Amino acid sequence: MNLKNTPARSAIYDFLVRSSSPVDAGQIIKFLRSKNLNTNKVTVYRNLDALFKNGLLERVEFGEGKFRYEFKKNHHHHLICTNCGKIEDISGEYLTVIENKIRKENGFIVKSHSLEFYGLCRNCRNN
Ligand SMILES: [Zn+2]
Ligand SMILES: [Zn+2]
Repeated sequence: MNLKNTPARSAIYDFLVRSSSPVDAGQIIKFLRSKNLNTNKVTVYRNLDALFKNGLLERVEFGEGKFRYEFKKNHHHHLICTNCGKIEDISGEYLTVIENKIRKENGFIVKSHSLEFYGLCRNCRNN
């Protein structure tokens, strides 16, 4: 990456790589402080912005009034539990079937889409 590699920046990136679901700035700040990296909101947002502009992470928004961040990986979608807030990744492969259908039937080339599923996770279903 053609980014200056500050300790905070690489710690943020490592944290995102290790997180199994998208995290918000608050969780990132907590993590950095647990690593004794003195930081604040402005620094974290500046770093997230730089990583985002360099295509190293993705920003997602689930109607919470804030962004969540995850490192760039294969195209996928999210399952969001409306009860406990758990977020899971699911593969996005079957969406290409729909996109091909749209191309054939509507002559429309889909360049991107955004799709989230809201419901109850395995845990909450059984309670
Ligand atoms: Zn749940
Ligand atoms: Zn994800």
